[in-house]
Amino acid sequence: MRFFITLFFFFFLLITPLVQAEKQTSLEKVLSRFSKTRLESLAALYERKNMLKEAAYSYKILADREKIFKRRVEFIQKAAYYFEKAGLEKEAIAIYRKIADYMIGSTNLQALACFKVGEYYYKHRKWKTAAKYLSYVVNLYQDKRFLDKALPMFQRAQKKSRSGFLAGLDYSIEKNIGQITKAAVEAQYKVLTNKEDTQKLKRVTKRLVKVAPRWDVKWSFNIIKADFWNAFAVPGGYIYVTNSLYNTVTEDELAGVLGHEIGHVVCRHSQKRLRRILLWNIAMNQINSKDTKTLLTIAAALKDLSYSRQNEYEADRYGVILAARAGYSPWGLPYFLKRIKEKYEKNRPSHLASLLRTHPITENRIKRATTLAKRLVEQNPTRYKFHSFEEYCKYMDELYKQEEKQKQEKKHQNQQEKSNSCKKSEQNQQS
Ligand SMILES: [Zn+2]
Repeated sequence: MRFFITLFFFFFLLITPLVQAEKQTSLEKVLSRFSKTRLESLAALYERKNMLKEAAYSYKILADREKIFKRRVEFIQKAAYYFEKAGLEKEAIAIYRKIADYMIGSTNLQALACFKVGEYYYKHRKWKTAAKYLSYVVNLYQDKRFLDKALPMFQRAQKKSRSGFLAGLDYSIEKNIGQITKAAVEAQYKVLTNKEDTQKLKRVTKRLVKVAPRWDVKWSFNIIKADFWNAFAVPGGYIYVTNSLYNTVTEDELAGVLGHEIGHVVCRHSQKRLRRILLWNIAMNQINSKDTKTLLTIAAALKDLSYSRQNEYEADRYGVILAARAGYSPWGLPYFLKRIKEKYEKNRPSHLASLLRTHPITENRIKRATTLAKRLVEQNPTRYKFHSFEEYCKYMDELYKQEEKQKQEKKHQNQQEKSNSCKKSEQNQQS
């Protein structure tokens, strides 16, 4: 008997959600049979009659069908609004999450969506997800409409989401770990400090720091001497870029790259990766700044730590927005990513391997960064010289081509001079 009761409950549990799901989507199914124009007038009618659920589903379907981007955003926004008003929270959050993840619409809308999603997951005690979206509101968009509410929620979610080792890690510990790794990096690579080399860095970072979130972090940017291309961040706000990368980028690109690294620090991505190495060493009480052997292992590991795709998307969002806020072109980062990817696909140069291993570049990453840059330019068209990515790429490609040509010419000249002087010395010897 007990067996049958259990069986019954089992089926009951299994079937109820299925039935409910069926009920919810049946309205959507019916509505989706209408043509686009018909559905539009229906949606307007539902709106007037205050039929919230019907209006919400109509706009959701319309958004899926619409090809003109501006109108699509309008529909998506309305769908989310009516779902929320109708009390269909899950549906509303699904749409807000789409807006947040794919960076749809204005940054105002994105901030709203991030807040709604963060608040929802906070309510459901899903701390990690809550912290991620609330971090965007607090650190990136810094939207005044939600800051007062979002900040305490963000801080609590962040504390709760850190589990196990490094739980409750505050800035002082983060800084200590950072200082140790900084020592490790600088033991292995020479930091370039001469004025000529660091001018561009100083110019860019002075403007970036003013707009960077996390006021508790004291940012420090350095160029290290290395023949591979990479940029990486150490906990505590120490950011490094190799001179081979640094020398080949424009200020727009550099602002994007450094903004991206700031993003990794703000989202604490490297801590999660460093945890494994540090846990062992700290447990063994092996870390002190004089132990060069351990330090070198850490530095080497750090250079090769790769980030997940999600981490890269998050950091790119920071890169594009911070660069734009600092007064640089938001196209800089997507252009850099595209350039690197094409260069690597063409002849796989080994100096790029390090950068691509630590920050994997995918088509999707470039697409997302471009999309976000486009939103920023659309919102402030008078501020930017280039209104499309294609325009920017064309201009920059030409610039790089000319630079390459000049380089080649110089090389050629040098070679000629060399051979000339060789000939002269030969003649001198003969005479
Ligand atoms: Zn990265």
